[in-house]
Amino acid sequence: MKNIPFIIIAAGVITVAAGCRTNDDGFSATELQTINADGAIGIMRLCTVDNETDSLLLRTVSRPVTEKIFHSDEYGILAERMLATVRNPENEGVGIAAPQVGVLRRMIAVQRFDKEGEPFEIYVNPEITRYSETRQTGTEGCLSIPDIYGEVSRAADITLRYRDGKTFEEKCEEINGFTAVIFQHEVDHLDGKLFTDIMIPPAE
Ligand SMILES: [Zn+2]
Repeated sequence: MKNIPFIIIAAGVITVAAGCRTNDDGFSATELQTINADGAIGIMRLCTVDNETDSLLLRTVSRPVTEKIFHSDEYGILAERMLATVRNPENEGVGIAAPQVGVLRRMIAVQRFDKEGEPFEIYVNPEITRYSETRQTGTEGCLSIPDIYGEVSRAADITLRYRDGKTFEEKCEEINGFTAVIFQHEVDHLDGKLFTDIMIPPAE
């Protein structure tokens, strides 16, 4: 999600080439190429809706992060590079999803505004298992949708189940407020959904 200064979310994208082996549930050759591009360090290229290939990728449902992937060197590289990308001072976000950097895997980074120091944390295979009926409306933007901002209504609090990005341990947590908005925006990316799909049309 884009920092508005409030929010930015990026998702990663993975292109699975036809006939490309998935490497026994590890990263595919195409995914490895994306993760290791530019010497495997630093900010990654963001997929944006104004690029035709990227826009199709952003509409694709991401696959789970397997245990084999979690234990690979490239998992750590991807996590570091997603963090570098969302924290880019020239294009800051408050959240990013792996499809936004071209890797179609269920992995997100979210800035925890509800924790001391507001750290960015990595969440693997996140799943929202409960959405409150109480809603909150706020302005959102997206690292993959340049120059568009709009009002979106989201659940005020959620229950999130996920694998810890550092230990792969299964966890469950209640999250509310703005941080819950970021999680909803980022998890949507993993299912090929964008905030503009549910944006409240501006009054004429
Ligand atoms: Zn986004």
